[in-house]
Amino acid sequence: MSIDNYIPYHRPSIGQEEVDSVEQTLRSGWLTTGARTAQFEREFSEYVQAPYALAVNSGTAGLHLALAALDIGPGDEVITTPLTFCATVNVIMHVGAEPVLADIGPGGNIDPEQIRLKITPRTRALMPVHFAGLPCDMNAIWSIAREHRLFTIEDAAHALGSLYRGYPIGAGHPPAGYASDAVVFSFYATKSLTTGEGGMVTAHGKDALERMRRLCLHGIGKDAWNRYADCGSWYYEVAECGFKYNLSDIQSAIGLPQLHKQEQFVAARTERARLYTELLSDSDEVECPPDSPDGRHCWHIYALRLRLNRLAISRAQFIEELRARGIGASVHFIPIPLHPYFKKYAVLSRNHCPRAIDLYSRMISLPLYPSMTPEDVQRVATAVIDIARRNAATKAIAVSGRGR
Ligand SMILES: *Cc1c(COP(=O)(O)O)cnc(C)c1O
Repeated sequence: MSIDNYIPYHRPSIGQEEVDSVEQTLRSGWLTTGARTAQFEREFSEYVQAPYALAVNSGTAGLHLALAALDIGPGDEVITTPLTFCATVNVIMHVGAEPVLADIGPGGNIDPEQIRLKITPRTRALMPVHFAGLPCDMNAIWSIAREHRLFTIEDAAHALGSLYRGYPIGAGHPPAGYASDAVVFSFYATKSLTTGEGGMVTAHGKDALERMRRLCLHGIGKDAWNRYADCGSWYYEVAECGFKYNLSDIQSAIGLPQLHKQEQFVAARTERARLYTELLSDSDEVECPPDSPDGRHCWHIYALRLRLNRLAISRAQFIEELRARGIGASVHFIPIPLHPYFKKYAVLSRNHCPRAIDLYSRMISLPLYPSMTPEDVQRVATAVIDIARRNAATKAIAVSGRGR
């Protein structure tokens, strides 16, 4: 397969607007956090309908800041999902708290009933992740949080552009009177809105956001970014031990035009995801990922599920077969308990999560991004069907295997 025909797993959607915007910022004389970042925060908070937003240099930094600003620390437990990127769990450990894993439901998101089983007197916060962009059952999660007086921090790294019951992830659910304490987005290179590296935290509480803003820049107690402007002062005070998590104006200059194109990106991804589902739904060897029953899926990831009992090859071999046909693929995610570092949590019975481990063993994330053509989608789907057919288990095995 020649390199020209290769369909990579991901390609960022960067246009002339981003190039011009960065050039303008580079020539402006102001490179670090400043007016462009303030504008990015304002426009972002409008887009997700959250009153406050803080730009940060990664989604991980945003999650860390949220936990720190809520004073979550040693002796506390935070309940999250096993089917997430390691960052979600690492930040819980960075603040000295203990991660507790609640297993997923059929869609891949944390199951509220499993959350209930994991609550102890030490539980302080819930950290749901909107896996692949499919919104979690937030009303159930918020209701548990209210009942047990817990904080809610949403890891919305996949969910920019997703809607929960008509409201953007970040807005909460105003008719029910619910909103999370913090919602964290990522602008990593593979995310729908990218600044190369970056992130955003949104909140509905002014105090929480101001605390995060202070912790974001060394714990300096005033608006320090204008320190070097002609109106700025040389004087500043450190009020607490903070971090260095601010987003630069160069990155915000990429983020602004990316934000302006988000609705287009969501529409393009949705069209491609629907085409995959249309082309693949007849195959007996694979299962298509679920759409949102009561919201809008932003289709950050198209996580195909293999029916392993109907296949004679493993998920890893399936990915190799795709690669041999010039198609990139990925896997989201290796469940937390399978990583060597988190083994000590995995052996605790309360962190058992068989559903996440089962789903992981059969998922493949297919290429999905706005610059894919319908022909690209067709080619990937044809390859999936062809690989599945050539490697279908014999009928006897298929019948004896339990249907999924
Ligand atoms: C990408 C991602 C993060 C981390 O975001 P960074 O911006 O890379 O720090 C956290 N959680 C999930 C689920 C992610 O996919």
